[in-house]
Amino acid sequence: MKYLIVLFILVLIYLFYTVLPSLYFKFMYKLKRKENGSTIYLTFDDGPSNEYTEVLLDVLKKYDVKASFFCVANFAKENENIIKRMNKEGHLVGLHSLKHDNAYLMDIFKTNKDFKNSIEIMKSLGKDIVYYRPPWGDLNLASLFNIRKYNLKLVLWNVMAEDWEGDTTAFDIEVKLLRRIKGGDIICLHDGRGENEAPKRTIEALDKVIPILLGKGFKFETVDKYYEK
Ligand SMILES: [Zn+2]
Repeated sequence: MKYLIVLFILVLIYLFYTVLPSLYFKFMYKLKRKENGSTIYLTFDDGPSNEYTEVLLDVLKKYDVKASFFCVANFAKENENIIKRMNKEGHLVGLHSLKHDNAYLMDIFKTNKDFKNSIEIMKSLGKDIVYYRPPWGDLNLASLFNIRKYNLKLVLWNVMAEDWEGDTTAFDIEVKLLRRIKGGDIICLHDGRGENEAPKRTIEALDKVIPILLGKGFKFETVDKYYEK
């Protein structure tokens, strides 16, 4: 019985430390969705990748579309030239943790270190980070503390297209995006990681979807504009 009580208390602490904050913010983000006629916000997580990100930047350039990149700091360190190119081409660079660890599995100390190290890396690359998206959108109480400490804005999303899945096709992603996107949406896609060369299919789909959306009168902006409205 004593063990059961201890177990119950531990589960309760875990729930309050990470499960409830994660669920709360994901839910609140859905409520917060701003209906805004024609503006949409493309965001990319899990890069920069030396294999895919520049191909994506070429596609964005082709249509003169600006996007926001939530970079994994360790990947950014390995691809400084890509961060420079994002800057030069008017994209927003945000943070997506140090090495894509999950907040569900991180204690306070590890979380503090993750924020401190990743913010320092991004600073050394010339980026003062303002916008933060946690891996999988998961948070713990220490992440919330760090978001306040470093004065970051938490950015989640309204639309996904399961573009990281190994068995999805570029056409599946295209159909999902065209069906799901409405004005005011923050769209979460991936330019790194993923199964079975996933970012390749995301880029292929975007090359079709962007001109269709532009043709429908949508405008693409970086997420800082979302917070100005
Ligand atoms: Zn991610």
